[in-house]
Amino acid sequence: MAKCVVCGKKCGDKSIRKGGKDFCCVDCLKQYEDKNKPDTKANVCEFC
Ligand SMILES: [Zn+2]
Repeated sequence: MAKCVVCGKKCGDKSIRKGGKDFCCVDCLKQYEDKNKPDTKANVCEFC
């Protein structure tokens, strides 16, 4: 079973696959996209 690339949870029914990556939910997909925006480099890590 695929694992979410953001939180590491196993992906279930609500999993989303985008760009070859698996996400367990829309929130994780959003977080991933936010983090990887080229023009939005966050200086503060919100996951630590
Ligand atoms: Zn996740």
